[in-house]
This record gives sequence, structure tokens and C-alpha cells, in this order.
Amino acid sequence: MMEHNYRVLIDGNLIDSLTGEKTEVINPSNGRVIAAVPKCGSAEIKQAVAAARKAAPAWADTTTAERGRVLKRLAAAIASRRDELARLETMQYGGPIWKTTNFDMTFIPEMLDYYAGTARAMTGMTLPVGPTCTSMTVREPYGVVGLITPWNFPLITILAKLAPALVTGNTCVVKPPSCAPLTALILGEIINEIDIPPGVVNIVTGPGDVAGETLVCHPDVAKIAFTGDSSVGKRIMRLAADTVKPLFLELGGKNAFIVLPDANMDAVIEGAVWSAFYNSGQNCASVGRFLVHEAVYDEFAEKFVAASRKITVGNPLDMATMMGPLTYRGHRDTVEGYIASAKKSGAKLLFGGKRLNTADTREGYFVAPTIFGDCNADMPFMREEIFGPVVGLMRFKTVEEAIAIANNTRYGLCASIWTEDMRTGLNMSRKLQDGTVWINQHLSIVFEVPWGGFKESGFGKENSLLCLEEYTRIKHVWVDLVGNPATPWHDKV
Ligand code: NDP
Repeated sequence: MMEHNYRVLIDGNLIDSLTGEKTEVINPSNGRVIAAVPKCGSAEIKQAVAAARKAAPAWADTTTAERGRVLKRLAAAIASRRDELARLETMQYGGPIWKTTNFDMTFIPEMLDYYAGTARAMTGMTLPVGPTCTSMTVREPYGVVGLITPWNFPLITILAKLAPALVTGNTCVVKPPSCAPLTALILGEIINEIDIPPGVVNIVTGPGDVAGETLVCHPDVAKIAFTGDSSVGKRIMRLAADTVKPLFLELGGKNAFIVLPDANMDAVIEGAVWSAFYNSGQNCASVGRFLVHEAVYDEFAEKFVAASRKITVGNPLDMATMMGPLTYRGHRDTVEGYIASAKKSGAKLLFGGKRLNTADTREGYFVAPTIFGDCNADMPFMREEIFGPVVGLMRFKTVEEAIAIANNTRYGLCASIWTEDMRTGLNMSRKLQDGTVWINQHLSIVFEVPWGGFKESGFGKENSLLCLEEYTRIKHVWVDLVGNPATPWHDKV
């Protein structure tokens, strides 16, 4: 792995950083360095933006069919390197190989196929402005868009932005996360092999507070799409104010999983284990708060703990592993800080709560699946996004109380309701202040349906046809049909 010469992609060239500086990438399952990548700064970002700007007019003038064909070539090239990319993804961020192979590398080609086709169905409107003129709306690309992406699904989160941005006619500068940039840089190599004009896609690694901020502030970047921490999202909003730059922000969540007394408990438990611990809880849609009706709280707690005991945690390259490490040491320390805070606040530890110490795990950044009971909304760990395998259980008595607790957060990303009574479920869904509400499901995020939050979870929609709107702006065109425009000054000038 160390031998591979990772380079950034700028204007169709694979190059090192201008200074030759590198950032080491660490395998979180054993703490060992697996690669070094270019550490770029403002200068390289400016070069990339200039290349994207130069390429923008010609790319915008291609047809959606041509751009769709590029996505199909990209899908095929990624699919042909599925095992290599899955392995690299696992090694750089710790997601188990069953997940990176069967989910990430399957999802990506299908998503690219989806955008290749759907963009061709984009339409505008004609508007009723009277008998002497006509009026229409036209969707146009922004020009250069900046894509700043996170490490919890490194390659998916890039392509979920890149595919709709490209197919709608934008050129792009991608800034991947510093701790998990390897598949992004391999993507740069693939892009260079599949006949995309130089400058249409540029991929530049470097620290967020330098490379990322240069991208956000650059006057030639017309829009920023960002997924990551809410505090970084707020900083980006402040920086973007100077150029009045539109943003698409997918930020954190403190998501609720609400169990009513009539719910199918087997389905509830399966959904609970999955939504708490999938991807080690490093998922903006993960559940942090389980709100359980008092009549079924004890049964739920007992069965949830029993099911969680069956999660195999260990070497993520082993196909049998269900849960890997957290992605970087500092993040592991933050998550352990939340466990300490939960213990201090009086929450009852039901399961886990410790660093793992088996032969497979002791060198890496592993945290055991952790469940606290008897929690309340005042406990700090029940208010903040933990982004790790640590959850809390709370009791409620009435549906109204459950909704009030669920909405009592600055976030509004998603929630789920578990009940056999669809009327109750649908009525509750109307009252929850979240961008997604599932009934008897949690974590189902596919590219056919929109994804994006309310409140401090951000704004804008990833996935689905709605996502195409994030990467296009609407121009209104008015056409006089009679050669005699009717104005209040008619016949006076
Ligand atoms: P960040 O939000 O810091 O990282 C996401 C991306 O933003 C990375 O590419 C990062 O670059 C970049 N970035 C960081 N600072 C800036 C900046 N000032 N201007 C522009 N870009 C910037 O997430 P972290 O890696 O620090 O994770 C911390 C927390 O964020 C997690 O614990 C979790 O709560 C939340 N998070 C939420 C995600 C979600 O899906 N909603 C995804 C990832 C994190 P670099 O890596 O170089 O710093």
C-alpha cells in the first residue's frame, strides 16, 4: 500500500503538492501508517478552481446524454475495481469489508447509472404571462462547484455530490477528508482514464481549515456542497457570506427512535441494533436517542442488550466482522469522552462502555457497542451528536411526550416511529421536525429518495430528483411576441 504514489488531480494532471508536503493516512484498526498523500493548500486549490473555470463553458454546452455517458463509463470503471476499492476504503476508515464490498461499491455504480438517466428528464416551466408574450424557466449549471466531503462513507459521499453536479453541467473541485482520502485519489486516477475533459473534475487533498476554506471563499466558486460537522457547516456559512455563495449543507443529527407499546418487538430490536451500531455509529442518520414507551421499556432494554452482544467487533478486513473501529484516534477519544460524561451524569450502563482489548482490537481505535439506560434529556451526551456506537434509552408515557422529547434538539435530521398503527405513525410523522421520518424502519437511505435535514442539521437535499435542483439555478426568460412591449411609458418615449 505504501508504494502507491497518491497524487491529486488538477486540470487533467496527476501531481504532487507544490511544496512536496504529505499527510500520513493511518489504518484505524491497528494505528499503522498505510500511505501518504499530498498536503495541498491555497495555491493548489486556486489552480484547481482556475482549471474548473476554464473547463466550465464547454462542459455546460455538452448534452445531458453526453454527460450521462461519462457517468456510465465512471460506473463501469469503478465496478471493475470493486474489490480493490472496497479493501482500500476499509483500510483507510475502518468500515467492515462486508459493508464496503456489498454496500458501498454496489451502491456507487447504481447511483451513477441513476443520475446518468434521470438528468435527462429535467424540465422547466412555461408561465401564463398574457397573450403578447411568453415566459419560461430554464435550469442552468452554476459553473464551478466546490464539494467538501466527510470520512464516514468516503467514496459514496463524494459521488453522491459529484454525479449530480457533473450531469447537470457543472465542473467540480473536490476536497476529501484528510483522514480518509485514498479512494478519492484513486477516483482521480480513474477519472483521468475514462475520457472526461481536463479540468471538469479536480480532486485536491489538504487540511480543511486551509484547502477547504480557500475553496469556500474563492470568488469563482459558485456553490459549495458540504457534508460534515455542524460547527464546520456554520463556519462555512460565515465564510460564504462574503461572496454571497449558495450552500448545500448536510450536517449532524441527534436522531430519535420512538417505540410505541404495540410495535413488533422483533422488528424493533433488529432495527435498533442496526441503527445504533452500523458503521460504528459513524453515520449522520444513526440513532442517539431511543425513546421507549414505559410499558415495553424493560423488555426493549433486555432484548436490545442481548442482540447487541451478538455484534462481532474486530478486524474489518475479516468478512465476518460486523463492526470495525472508529475512524481516527482523536474521534475515538471524543467518543470515549461522551461515555465518561454519560457515566458521570447518572445514566445506567447496560452494555459496553469500554475500549476493546482483544488481539484484533487493542492496537486500533475500537469502542465497544455501548448502551445506557435511564437517561434524560438534560444529560449532555443525550444532546450532542456522538457519531460513535454510544446510545441512550429514555422512557415516555404518551405520544405527545415522545414527540416533545424527539423535537427537543437543535438538530432535525431524521427519526423513526415503531408501531403497528399506521394512523398513529402518520400523525406523529407530521409533528416531527425532521427531514426524514421512517415508520417501522431506520437508516434506509437510497438514491431514489431525498435526504437532508431541518434546523441545525442543514438544508438542501441529497439524492433523488430533488438533488438535481441543488446543482442548477433557475433562469427566467421572457419573450415579447408582438414587437410592441406594453410599458407604462408606452407612446411617451
Ligand atoms: P469535519 O466536518 O471537520 O470534516 C468534514 C470535511 O470538512 C473534511 O473534508 C474536512 O477536511 C473539511 N473541513 C474541516 N474544517 C473545514 C473548514 N474550516 N472549512 C472547510 N472545510 C473544512 O468533520 P470531522 O472529521 O472533524 O468530524 C467531526 C464530527 O463531525 C463528527 O464527530 C461528526 O459529529 C460530524 N460529522 C458528520 C458527518 C455527517 O455525515 N453529517 C460526517 C462527518 C463528520 P479535513 O478532513 O482536512 O479537516
